[in-house]
Amino acid sequence: MKKCLIHTEKPYEVVIGSGVSGKIGEYLTSLGLSGKVLVVSDTNVAPLYAEGVADELVYHGFEPSIFTFDAGEESKNLSTYGDILAFLAEDEFTRTDTVLALGGGVVGDMAGFAAATYMRGIHFINMPTSLLAAIDSSVGGKTAVDLPQGKNLVGAFYQPELVLFDTDFMKTLPYDEIRNGLGEGVKYAVLEGGEIFDILSDGLTSDNLEQFIYLSVEAKRRIVEEDEKEGGVRKFLNLGHTIAHAVETLTEYVVPHGLAVAYGVRMMARFACERGELAEEQYAKIEGLLLANDLALELNPISELIPYFAADKKRAGDMITLVTIAGIGDCRLTKLPLDELKSYFGVE
Ligand code: ADP
Ligand code: ZN
Repeated sequence: MKKCLIHTEKPYEVVIGSGVSGKIGEYLTSLGLSGKVLVVSDTNVAPLYAEGVADELVYHGFEPSIFTFDAGEESKNLSTYGDILAFLAEDEFTRTDTVLALGGGVVGDMAGFAAATYMRGIHFINMPTSLLAAIDSSVGGKTAVDLPQGKNLVGAFYQPELVLFDTDFMKTLPYDEIRNGLGEGVKYAVLEGGEIFDILSDGLTSDNLEQFIYLSVEAKRRIVEEDEKEGGVRKFLNLGHTIAHAVETLTEYVVPHGLAVAYGVRMMARFACERGELAEEQYAKIEGLLLANDLALELNPISELIPYFAADKKRAGDMITLVTIAGIGDCRLTKLPLDELKSYFGVE
């Protein structure tokens, strides 16, 4: 078992390990929580794990109920969010009660936003069950729902009181979802270098899974702690994401986020190498890592993607900040005017 302490305004622990979900009641009790707990989950995860979590809560004197919605991003909308709030109100939850997210990023984002806003904020516990949610959305306090006009357009920064990731949950995660999580993992490997890069180059196994998640969470922790509300260094987490968001928009989200990120990192490495900013041998190592994880993707050519860069949420006026790769474990923030993007990427 491993623990990371996230020193945000309201510090909290991320606990990672085999079987830790069996201790959920103990953890909540030691946080001083009691009373009602709404376990929010989706139709894939709830049948696997919700009863076990609820039983454990009952055993420790809590009053759990389970709210399940249809799995998938399509559910991450105001209607489901409203249903969660209605459930809380009808069951007379008060500010001393708790919302517990049990699922992937979709569950965490929506349950977190419900917890942030119901009665202006009630206790929130996050139990991510997907690899992507474990290494990404469970740290940083971002919660949100989608609007018909775009993804994550309504949300809040709201920190959980505990993040508990049971590595045993990975056993039921479909291969495509593991690959999707690894795609986001490529970002941490290239940002950090060192052990996390080596783990992914050798391939993720049940033996190094806990360490991989720990290192990813630690990487995100260091970045987020320096910059809780996204001003400066948090921009590094955007590595590969300008290209990824363009791919997602262009393909109407047919390409899942993690794969799009892996492609984004690959393209940034390729162009850095072509520009002479990244040594050939380092580029070859990144390619090797991508190949080892079935992530050496060839998606939309950069010329098709550049028009979408202007829609990047992190754009400031006519300038865009790209996270460029000078080496493994050595990324830079490079500010570019939009009209120089084409020449930067060698597009006629
Ligand atoms: P994210 O990839 O951001 O975590 P989702 O919340 O949609 O996005 O999760 C991806 C998919 O994986 C969903 O269909 C979800 O139900 C499923 N899932 C998440 N965790 C598990 C798990 N431990 N076992 C089986 N399926 C899971
Ligand atoms: Zn991402």
